[in-house]
Amino acid sequence: MRLAIIGAGPAGIYAADLLMKADRDFEVDIDLFEQLPAPYGLVRYGVAPDHPRIKGIVTALREVLDAGTVNFYGNVRYGQDLTLEDLKRHYHAVIFATGAIRDASLAIPGIDAHGSYGAADFVSWFDGHPDVPREWPLEAREVAVIGNGNVALDISRMLVKHPEDLRPTEIPENVLSRLQANPIEDLHLFGRRGPHYVKFTPLELRELGEVPGVDMVIDERDFEFDDPYVEETLMKNKQVVVISRIMNKWREEQRARLAEDAEAQAPRRLHLHFWSKPVSVERDEHGRVAGLKIERTAPDGTGGVIDTGEFETVPVQALYRAIGYFGSPLDEIPFDESRGVIPNDQGRVLGADGRHVPGVYATGWIKRGPVGLIGHTKSDAMETLECLLEDRDQWWQPPVPEAAAIPELLHSRHVPYTTIEGWHRLDAHELALGAEEGRERVKVVPREEMTRVSRGE
Ligand code: NAP
Repeated sequence: MRLAIIGAGPAGIYAADLLMKADRDFEVDIDLFEQLPAPYGLVRYGVAPDHPRIKGIVTALREVLDAGTVNFYGNVRYGQDLTLEDLKRHYHAVIFATGAIRDASLAIPGIDAHGSYGAADFVSWFDGHPDVPREWPLEAREVAVIGNGNVALDISRMLVKHPEDLRPTEIPENVLSRLQANPIEDLHLFGRRGPHYVKFTPLELRELGEVPGVDMVIDERDFEFDDPYVEETLMKNKQVVVISRIMNKWREEQRARLAEDAEAQAPRRLHLHFWSKPVSVERDEHGRVAGLKIERTAPDGTGGVIDTGEFETVPVQALYRAIGYFGSPLDEIPFDESRGVIPNDQGRVLGADGRHVPGVYATGWIKRGPVGLIGHTKSDAMETLECLLEDRDQWWQPPVPEAAAIPELLHSRHVPYTTIEGWHRLDAHELALGAEEGRERVKVVPREEMTRVSRGE
């Protein structure tokens, strides 16, 4: 079998690994295509630079790519350098593992004001994604972040953390120097539900409270509700119990701080606002963000919220929405515009008639939406592979299945593709640049330079 996988993030690499290890009675040959010159997707371009533990997943992913049984073709864009027709000519099937890198939209008045950003764009910037502008305006003293998930935590931490603490990491140089001039003093983090309903994971939340020079500021009103759903349902989840403990500790620390000296304040403050639904973005006369108007909500007793008709406006000069990622459509492949995923049944891609499109599969965030930690992608890939193996009699019958036809095709189209050897070259180059400065690595950011170093040109 010749299989094409589109996307060399964790989802694509896990799918390749599981197929290589699967119990099967035929040979497989996998080509892994990636639109960027380097592999690892969100591990390289989504995980925050100060999270080396998560970045360590690369070690396992690297083993798969180094095993010599998967061919990596980087800098190849599906829909541009390679079409569905090409895939049908050279492979028996394709798995799309293209993830989700865009921001979900938030339909409130003023959201398009200057200074209103999507978290995913900011993450791409601080992680040195080659396709986003290298400049990011960090001019606001007061900033709002909307959302109570781990991405909101990542961007809040990056915004308030002292840049010197980021220096040893692989943070790009231009990001570090921009952060050094960041005038932020107050960051306001908004959740539309209560403190027990957050999507944060305990480890990441605790880390936020440990950032030096930052006080956690909590509104005691947010903890006053008598909400039966919390005791009866949420507190049965160990994660919620730990999160609740962390917040209670912050509340105690705040009480102690206030009792000691109301005037003494850390240079930066992180304000947690729960039960706060974003209503509109206020602008100044230049169309710039001037405030976030929220409506206070209250628990409805079943896990949801009701509006209270009570409004507040918090003055901010920049705003980030971290309310979820969103997938991007792919040429000639069905797409669900409302959910930002490829419509599928357990990984079998479905056409407009609701039937499986033969030979076409999906895995990872483009399959199930942008939820779950990186490891969850493994069981997801397993499900897709089981379908793929079951469907053997429906695979494509490629007229040109020879492996050598692919580099020939890319050459003929003048696609400057990169290989796994090329990635090793770029990886070693980045590590060497880092070693010179006592840093983990110095990321090469421009696409052309990444390609040039990879190709040894
Ligand atoms: P997420 O976990 O789904 O959180 C999204 C947040 O946005 C939720 O608090 C949600 O509130 C809120 N939200 C959605 N629509 C909203 C609206 N219209 N108005 C106000 N708030 C709204 O998504 P994420 O933070 O993008 O993370 C994606 C996945 O990556 C998660 O599984 C996350 O754990 C993982 N991740 C992990 C790490 C790590 O360090 N371990 C880092 C980054 C990401 P409701 O709950 O009320 O819907």
